[in-house]
Amino acid sequence: MSQKPVLYFLICVSLAFSSCQKEDILASEDYKTLGSSAHSLLSASAYSSLDIQISYMPGYAPDSGSIRNLAAFLNTYIYKPSGIRISVKPISSSGKTVLTLSDIVKIEKQVRSMFSGSAALAVHILIADADYNVADVLATSYWSTSVCVFGKTAFAASRGAGQMAVDDLITTLLEHEFGHLMGLVNQGSPMQVNHRDLANGAHCDNKTCLMYNTIENTGTGMYAVIPTFDDNCKSDLKANGGK
Ligand SMILES: [Zn+2]
Ligand SMILES: [Zn+2]
Repeated sequence: MSQKPVLYFLICVSLAFSSCQKEDILASEDYKTLGSSAHSLLSASAYSSLDIQISYMPGYAPDSGSIRNLAAFLNTYIYKPSGIRISVKPISSSGKTVLTLSDIVKIEKQVRSMFSGSAALAVHILIADADYNVADVLATSYWSTSVCVFGKTAFAASRGAGQMAVDDLITTLLEHEFGHLMGLVNQGSPMQVNHRDLANGAHCDNKTCLMYNTIENTGTGMYAVIPTFDDNCKSDLKANGGK
């Protein structure tokens, strides 16, 4: 694939005004347990806007279609009356072929510049040029406002016949990981009826749902279209302050 020119895609302007610097981290929502910011993300009660910082490594810039899809998806499920802003920024290569969770955390702490503040919740998405040290994982969310997509793995998983186009796969991964930040399934947003896949952690038991566990793995199949939340996942989001 060809490396795209440096892209600074911005939905809305004025990124800096509502985001905080590192000094505010301890008092904010960031770097907390996964799912603990679900209500803050879904509702407008604590934060009226959302700032998303996407830091990508060389060769793995997200397509503008994936960014637009993510913004539309978030506007469908969360209340942010003052807006959802997405910035995309190139960062240096990891210099590795495989990354561990502690590598990812270290990189995030080096490159993340947007943190939750008085009016805006902030989410950081890292798109890495390496595989995860857990086989076949395409993406992971590991803290309340932190996501990593393994770009190299995802691109490799979208080249074959019958596999999703890479832009659709990146969209799917971003939306699935946001589902985790929104507290699905039963990790931050309590289940309204039982639908957690007991064998596979905070995932939905409906194979056609966006929150089914195989969505973020390469091992067990790809989808013909970008999956959406099923009714059980939707009602959990609504019950925790979402749309
Ligand atoms: Zn997942
Ligand atoms: Zn579901």
